[in-house]
Amino acid sequence: MKTVKIISLLFICFLVFSCKSRKEDQVANNESFKNNRPPRHENGRRPGPPPGGGGRVRNYVATDSDEAVEKLHPAFEAFNKEATDIFLSNNGRTVTIETTGLPDHETIYWGKNHELYRDEPSVERTPSIMSSNNNAITLVVDAVPNLTGKTINTNMGTIGIAVSGASIFNDQEGGGALDRAAASLDWTGGHIGPGVYHYHLEPKAFSYNDDKLVGILRDGVFIYGRKCFETGDYPTNLDASGGHTGITQHSNGKAEYHYHIINELYSTTGSYIVFAGPYQGY
Ligand SMILES: [Zn+2]
Ligand SMILES: [Zn+2]
Repeated sequence: MKTVKIISLLFICFLVFSCKSRKEDQVANNESFKNNRPPRHENGRRPGPPPGGGGRVRNYVATDSDEAVEKLHPAFEAFNKEATDIFLSNNGRTVTIETTGLPDHETIYWGKNHELYRDEPSVERTPSIMSSNNNAITLVVDAVPNLTGKTINTNMGTIGIAVSGASIFNDQEGGGALDRAAASLDWTGGHIGPGVYHYHLEPKAFSYNDDKLVGILRDGVFIYGRKCFETGDYPTNLDASGGHTGITQHSNGKAEYHYHIINELYSTTGSYIVFAGPYQGY
């Protein structure tokens, strides 16, 4: 009887110890990622998702019935090559977008002393800056959106990747309306917190009242600025998501479904929500 007691006591000690050291490993991993980003592979891709604030988000899962493509869509050429690695995956049925999440434009969120730091006295900056934050995300999207008429609501967190390499979020902040956090948004509609640096409002750094590509959303549909390439003007036939079918500067003369930033001012922000949903392409 005594031996059984001693053995179980030893076992409990072992369990407690191994849990503790695993936790310490995790903390150490997070710390070292911040200071030491994993090196790129020879093919230019970074190995696996990084630990910490960024990481993989709930991604598209390919099925056999999904259409495959042989080449990346020409619109991906517009993405920030310094931040992103974009390639076909699942035998051409999906596109994997790996990004550092670090945009190629100025913002207060770079922090003083960074060459892209912008002094924005009216912005109530949140505590994090780019270098103290893990902004990396890997997103896997459908190579050909499933436009079946089914719609799916957006969630909190990354809903898309902008051409700058940074994340796009919807019209919610921490479960409430964006108004609460509007003061912390920088000149280009972005901020940090919680999680990765992300845009809520029209990202003026690369699309301002024009037809420029803004990014790609998680359903595999591209999103453009407030104007449409086909007419050079604000589109008038958008669905509830801001989408319609038409020619873009990247569609080789063929009509394809895409979203626009809807040309309606959002609340008291004086600007425009990038995308509030629902997705049309899942
Ligand atoms: Zn936010
Ligand atoms: Zn359009």
